[in-house]
Amino acid sequence: MASPALPFAFDSTAPDAQRVAQRYAARAVTNVSAETKRAIRAIVVRSIREGIPPYDAARLIRAIVGLTKPAALAVMRYRGELLEQGIAPGRVRTLIERYSAKLLRERSITIARTEIMHALNEGARQTWKQAQKDGYLGDGARKVWIVTPDEILARCPICRPMEDVSVPLNENFITPVGPLPGPPAHPRCRCTHSIEP
Ligand SMILES: [Zn+2]
Repeated sequence: MASPALPFAFDSTAPDAQRVAQRYAARAVTNVSAETKRAIRAIVVRSIREGIPPYDAARLIRAIVGLTKPAALAVMRYRGELLEQGIAPGRVRTLIERYSAKLLRERSITIARTEIMHALNEGARQTWKQAQKDGYLGDGARKVWIVTPDEILARCPICRPMEDVSVPLNENFITPVGPLPGPPAHPRCRCTHSIEP
């Protein structure tokens, strides 16, 4: 599934986001080895540092991750259905290869987008907290949840109620999936937030 660029520019000077990625990226990725997590982390860090769009980062990630267990089971199910329909084994092979490639593509895009958004958003929060500590932001500074237009179009049940909700910088947002320091609220979430001094 092709996707447009993220709705905000990558700040190549986002050192906090890079640090976050260095430390946390790929923590939530399941069914991969520690080595693969390290590789994903390296890709996410470079994406942020060099402004590589998530879609391109996903291509790199695709080369190092496999399918999740549910996806692998879905491929097996699909294979069974095709054989039941009496489709020739050679054709079945082509079709399941295509299907698993599609699932892998989707997984890598999910990982790239979610990990990059997590690092950028968490990095922004760390920058704001430091700014508050240094006196550049007042004690009453609030973070504001910004829902991107495509989340609204997609009628995302998690993000839509969060539109323009604000909370004090050091508090959690109360979201449909529980308290969160900010976006992303779910895999592939495109929400961001801003700060009101
Ligand atoms: Zn959403």
